[in-house]
Amino acid sequence: MTAPIAAGPARPIQNIEQTFPKLTSAQIARIATHGRKRRVEKGEVLIAVGKTIPLFFVVVEGTIDVVQPAGRTETTVMVLSPGDFSGEVSILSGRRSLITLRVATPGEVVELDREALLQLVQTDAELSEIFVRAFLLRRVALIAEGMGDVILVGSNHSSDTLRIKEFLTRNAYPYAAIDPDSDRDIQDLLDHFQFAISDTPVLICRGRTVLRNPTNHEIADCLGFNESVDQTQKRDVVVVGAGPSGLASAVYAASEGLDVLILESNVPGGQAGSSSRIENYLGFPSGISGAELTARAYTQAQKFGADMMIAEGAARINCSQNKSYTIQIQSGDRITARTVIIATGANYRKLPLDNMARFEGVGVYHGASHIESQLCKGEEVIVVGGGNSAGQAAVFLAQAARKVHILVRGRGLAETMSRYLIRRIEESPEISLHPCTEITAVEGDDHLERVFWTTDGSAPEAHNIRHVFVMTGAEPCTKWLEGCVTMDSRGFIKTGPDLTREELAAAKWPLPRPPHLLETSRPGVFAVGDVRAGNIKRFHSSTRRCRSKNGCILSRLSRTTPRRGRGRTTSSRPVRDARLPRALRRTDSTHFARQLEFHDAGRGWENRPLELGGVHRAAAPDDYERHPLRDQVVQVRHDLGRHLDRHASRGSRGEGNQAITVRDGAERWRLHYQCAAR
Ligand SMILES: Cc1cc2nc3c(=O)[nH]c(=O)nc-3n(C[C@H](O)[C@H](O)[C@H](O)COP(=O)(O)OP(=O)(O)OC[C@H]3O[C@@H](n4cnc5c(N)ncnc54)[C@H](O)[C@@H]3O)c2cc1C
Repeated sequence: MTAPIAAGPARPIQNIEQTFPKLTSAQIARIATHGRKRRVEKGEVLIAVGKTIPLFFVVVEGTIDVVQPAGRTETTVMVLSPGDFSGEVSILSGRRSLITLRVATPGEVVELDREALLQLVQTDAELSEIFVRAFLLRRVALIAEGMGDVILVGSNHSSDTLRIKEFLTRNAYPYAAIDPDSDRDIQDLLDHFQFAISDTPVLICRGRTVLRNPTNHEIADCLGFNESVDQTQKRDVVVVGAGPSGLASAVYAASEGLDVLILESNVPGGQAGSSSRIENYLGFPSGISGAELTARAYTQAQKFGADMMIAEGAARINCSQNKSYTIQIQSGDRITARTVIIATGANYRKLPLDNMARFEGVGVYHGASHIESQLCKGEEVIVVGGGNSAGQAAVFLAQAARKVHILVRGRGLAETMSRYLIRRIEESPEISLHPCTEITAVEGDDHLERVFWTTDGSAPEAHNIRHVFVMTGAEPCTKWLEGCVTMDSRGFIKTGPDLTREELAAAKWPLPRPPHLLETSRPGVFAVGDVRAGNIKRFHSSTRRCRSKNGCILSRLSRTTPRRGRGRTTSSRPVRDARLPRALRRTDSTHFARQLEFHDAGRGWENRPLELGGVHRAAAPDDYERHPLRDQVVQVRHDLGRHLDRHASRGSRGEGNQAITVRDGAERWRLHYQCAAR
């Protein structure tokens, strides 16, 4: 192997204390119990750039250089000394390393394999926080320095350049970009090597392979995004779609120890990933960008051991089997799953104008992220649509654009947009609302140049506006299901109580119980988020219900298999005990749920099966949120909680059988349970 000819200096890294925190000797001792201590010698390569990262190291003695090779030269990113540890997000995702780790002075390290590290971050909260924060900050530093092994050469006026930039950015993959429009030498170079316009943008991948206008799938392939994923293994859960609802499902399912694979046809984050600022999500009072929120969710899913395949969507599903489902992915391979969660969301509708498609990405956009806002700096823009996403885009774009015109067909925004956004729009002098207005034509050459619109049926007016953000509702991404599950007239998937008896009979629903809240007309196939009929198209509703759904999945899996987890041995404990949160173990009374009934006006009391026969120690009403029964009792949990509180306040230990009947609107539920002193 040729030695590098020059070593650059270590670059100053911001936020160094958190990016490279020092571990204490007590923390190192705790880590050592999960791995082994060993000597390392000068020059030994512990991790090589471009190879998957099988190991994690803590320096006990000596020093280790973190270097980024580039051809025959290399840059020293950092020198690790005693108390430092290796790794960035690639170690969680199982992808190839972006850097090389080489011993500078001999010493001793603690060495853990990747599985042991995953197990450690799932069980040790203190170390988990230190590692995950450092891994994320290190990736951010690599991105800020453009220190990947990818160079993108393409015009900022090309929709494919924007597509590739978005793909790399939303996969948190560092890259350097060169725009030939602003660098004449690069254009000459492309001409010299006879790159046609259709060959651009050009992507130099891993410093070696030259890809001409590659698809996202080709880029994922070249960067090895999916190579560590085992496709032969039968999964407990396959989540299709990595928008907020898919990511939330994956986090909750993987954190329960299930073996989870996420399939994403494009990039993680879904629609929310292109949201400039989400302000109506609990816990973020000053808002958070969709990209940041979903990137955190992605890391969280990986932390719990969920696998993800990028740019590799579901193309078909075979639902003729009842106990498992086979999904054919875009490459033609097949993946088997015990349960499937459909989280494929919906796509924005396009305006039905002749040449609109020509300007996709070069004047017509469906998301307003930082990339788009930079393109229309100081210019006038149009936002079409009256929903929250349109309002958000308008408010965000108003920070960069000279003027934002919101075009809506209706008389106003009151019926379609959240009140807080309407107020922002009213208060913003840069934004004008045009009710009863529609675009009739668009014009331009390589880029959109002119837009014609009509108001209240008047003659079309021409406006020299080069950027239109179309946010006019969405169509569900359900074509790949080919009628496997029951849908409504618009193609959204029906679940749980929305499925009528006739629909279940037509779908040949095979079980004595009705479908769970988010279960489709196929047992074990669930639908969440925007793709589900009746779901309000909001981020919080996409993520909120995923929690309760996992109870149903667990109950389905509990009948067929013990829970498993990557990096964990198969648990011999019953599912219900293993998943009881610590809060539930504090209480002094024990409630054994025995039977749940639902009152139907025509048929009287009907038994609703208790899938887990759940043992539950209830301390507070909200514990029912986490109870295995929660899907059945979610409507009644507050009343039930009050009842249990009264029960507790009377000092009763309540041995023996008890029942509670609760009304929820026209519905009546009755829960039989047994209380026993500890
Ligand atoms: C610009 C913008 C701003 C918004 N702002 C807000 C806001 O402020 N507040 C709010 O509450 N909501 C907001 N929303 C709406 C919110 O983002 C959506 O409700 C939410 O993203 C829906 O999540 P989801 O996971 O159901 O679907 P999506 O986010 O649409 O994700 C679906 C995912 O599935 C993938 N997929 C599709 N088909 C397949 C397949 N066959 N195989 C594999 N993968 C597939 C897609 O590529 C996508 O990644 C905004 C939306 C946009 C576009």
